[in-house]
Amino acid sequence: MPTWIQLVFLACGVCFILALKGLSGPKTARNGNILGAIAAVVACLMPFFWSDLHLRHVPLIIIAIAIGTIGGVYGARTVQMTQMPQMVALFNGVGGGAAALVALLELHEHVSADIHENWFVWAATAFTIVVGATSFAGSAITFAKLQDLMTSRPVVFPGLRYLFGITLGAAVVLSVRLAIAPSVWLAVLLGLIGLLFGLLLVLPVGGADVPIVISLLNAFTGLTVAAGGYVLSNVLLLIAGTLVGASGTFLTLLMARAMGRSVANILFGALKGGSTLGAGVASDRPVKSVNPEDAAIMLGYADRVIIVPGYGLAVAQAQHSLRELVDVLGERGVQVDYAIHPVAGRMPGHMNVLLAEAQVPYEQLREMDEINGDFTDTDVVLIVGANDVVNPAAKSTPGAPIYGMPILNADEARQIIFMKRSMRPGFAGIENELLFDEKTSLLFGDAKDSMGKLLNAVKAL
Ligand code: NDP
Repeated sequence: MPTWIQLVFLACGVCFILALKGLSGPKTARNGNILGAIAAVVACLMPFFWSDLHLRHVPLIIIAIAIGTIGGVYGARTVQMTQMPQMVALFNGVGGGAAALVALLELHEHVSADIHENWFVWAATAFTIVVGATSFAGSAITFAKLQDLMTSRPVVFPGLRYLFGITLGAAVVLSVRLAIAPSVWLAVLLGLIGLLFGLLLVLPVGGADVPIVISLLNAFTGLTVAAGGYVLSNVLLLIAGTLVGASGTFLTLLMARAMGRSVANILFGALKGGSTLGAGVASDRPVKSVNPEDAAIMLGYADRVIIVPGYGLAVAQAQHSLRELVDVLGERGVQVDYAIHPVAGRMPGHMNVLLAEAQVPYEQLREMDEINGDFTDTDVVLIVGANDVVNPAAKSTPGAPIYGMPILNADEARQIIFMKRSMRPGFAGIENELLFDEKTSLLFGDAKDSMGKLLNAVKAL
């Protein structure tokens, strides 16, 4: 590789690191994203300027890049915020599959040309093939689960744990065999085993845990790409893969911690017999409902209000009218903050992104640990499309799917208003005792519709 291309790759690697740093804060995220995207484009263009590479099939490569670009831009522009996890799953799976295919082709070229490599290179090749295939198949299943193309409940069948064990054992034995005596057929078989392993790993994982598995598979893809970088002696792939692997691993651990679960419990909970998703039946117990006018009086004459946004806010796209409501309350002298639970919504940072889109000042967003002590001094908590993140079962009901998850202490406020459409439970599928609390009133309806009415009623006070 010419020195100047190595230097460009190194610069791109530095840009990836700076991009990640930028993505860690709301003010710098946009620039970080742009920097990372530019570095990725520059890196992809380099092979075209590398004359010694004797690039073949250039028209085919350009057609493939064009198809990928059109699909990627269309997907990124049209995806709903609530569908982001499945889009990440799709892109991630394709990345893992691509790395596995590249490793397979490299191995094919080396074996046909009778080029000898040391065992470690073949071991890295085997790793890329099996983990890349696992990531591809696993991501395809997570996509299908989140897109409602199949049930989002854990899929288990008799003998699953034995099949899982046998597949894992076969993957290890075949990888060792490939490292000692490389052969294309062995590599293809290893790829197929990897696909089966990906299926068996993700099928038993239920609804609420699927986004965590996506993050884990993302880490797998990163490691696959890093190993692919080693096989191809490409420093940039090594850097980029390691960054994705490390950040995916951290994200997985942080999400699991925010839910009060271990990664092993998320992955293997269903294998041990415990479902990760509750029954999801709507309750018919009596509750106190409220109309927008009465809710407006409660909010408009309060001194202190806390808003708890959740997944339903994103579904209803009510963030703009919510911000307007908070502005109007602020003009009336009410002190209002947003309480942000780390796993509110369906992806990390979901609420932050949603509210930033509605131009909510970042200072109004308060993290769970920071605001949890304030609920006792709060007149009204307005819960907009959230459920699990305020469900006291997380503290009081051992055995509940969310037991152990830290929650927002909404139950400590003087009055609670829930905005939701029905008595259906949240994502974990379990009843929320807070809905039946005597301090609680329910404002039924689509959050956008109800928020508009509530806003008008507050303005009319
Ligand atoms: P929940 O899924 O618990 O509750 C959402 C609520 O919104 C429901 O009560 C639903 O009730 C209501 N809702 C849905 N659509 C609308 C609408 N159009 N208008 C009004 N209300 C609506 O969401 P939370 O944010 O409280 O909790 C997030 C859940 O997702 C947790 O279980 C968490 O573990 C899980 N999760 C989150 C991840 C993350 O990274 N953020 C990752 C993985 C899982 P109704 O249908 O009656 O309207």
